[in-house]
Amino acid sequence: MIPPNSTIGVFGSGQLGRMFAIAARTLGYRVQTFSPETDTPTGQIADKEIVSPYEDLDTVRKFAREVDVITFEFENVPFETVQAAAESADVFPRGEILHTTQNRLREKAFLSANNFPVTPFKKIASEEELRKVFAEFGAPCVLKTAGFGYDGKGQTRISAFGEIEKAFASLDGADAILEKFIDFEKEVSVVAARDRKGNCVNYGVFENSHSKHILDVSFAPANISKKIYDEAIEIARSVLENLDLVGVMCVEFFLTKDEKLLINELAPRPHNSGHLTIDACVTSQFEQQLRAVCGLPLGSTAQLKPAAMANLLGDIWLDREPNFARALENENVKLHLYGKIEPRKARKMGHLTALADSTSDAISRVRVARESL
Ligand code: AMP
Repeated sequence: MIPPNSTIGVFGSGQLGRMFAIAARTLGYRVQTFSPETDTPTGQIADKEIVSPYEDLDTVRKFAREVDVITFEFENVPFETVQAAAESADVFPRGEILHTTQNRLREKAFLSANNFPVTPFKKIASEEELRKVFAEFGAPCVLKTAGFGYDGKGQTRISAFGEIEKAFASLDGADAILEKFIDFEKEVSVVAARDRKGNCVNYGVFENSHSKHILDVSFAPANISKKIYDEAIEIARSVLENLDLVGVMCVEFFLTKDEKLLINELAPRPHNSGHLTIDACVTSQFEQQLRAVCGLPLGSTAQLKPAAMANLLGDIWLDREPNFARALENENVKLHLYGKIEPRKARKMGHLTALADSTSDAISRVRVARESL
């Protein structure tokens, strides 16, 4: 067990690290964050902000010697960095899990090899192959780069053969996969945590809506049948167990119109769709990550009230400073800002969470609050 007052190292310095660091602080831990940036959302909370390229393995090793355990908040930390750190400190989740999930091809290969349901996909290495697979899957499809993709980055939708040449050129030589476009009923996700002894807990099922490929609103409990709920939880539990994951993982699903769950993506860390756990659950997903990586017992995931979360993107800041006071006029709305200095279009700057007696009221509250910004 890593006791309070020990130091946790965090690779990455964004909002997920910030909310993790706040949870770690609450339980009396110290935090060091490692990333190439300064004055970061995590660095503002941490004891120490180490500013270095991930590729500087000497600095990585020094960082690992100074901390008691390491976790990450950013999926694209190079595998070599995690390996170098693991020479001196335990890293949770294991670097191999990061390696699998930071590449769509490896992730999907793992999932299909273990018989988890995934969106139909194929590796694409040439334009000719792209034509062939597109013909096989039928329109529309989504071409995705295998690595370094999030929030729809590196994705191109292809609806006709005439779009293939341009779509393939946009890859610029990167490894890619083609996926069948799923005309889904809805998107849902399960955030689950697993400790070093193999105990596994989950927060139930969140229902998510996206705008321009970026998560827009999440709410819980999801509006789904008990059968789908049980299936989603069982798939998530089984994925964590299969990976022997210690920490938090989010499993994102498409629920198809004929009531089938397909895994879209895994994230081996707390997830945007789980942000409402901060205000709505006994133990937040960030505290759960802390407990798991430190070898503490996992906390209750019980949700105290129906809740909805809405992301605040930089777009809201572009014309003027948002009117935060107005958004907070409803006393059941909570504001979280990430301390990012520069608001940019599509950049996640913060989120709002609303609690209510029903999910539909929570959703309308959070939307009204966001609109009144
Ligand atoms: P991703 O980065 O793969 O999670 O994609 C971001 C969002 O794009 C997803 O949450 C979906 O809303 C949409 N999307 C991605 N892949 C597909 C697909 N194969 N079919 C339908 N929508 C997709």
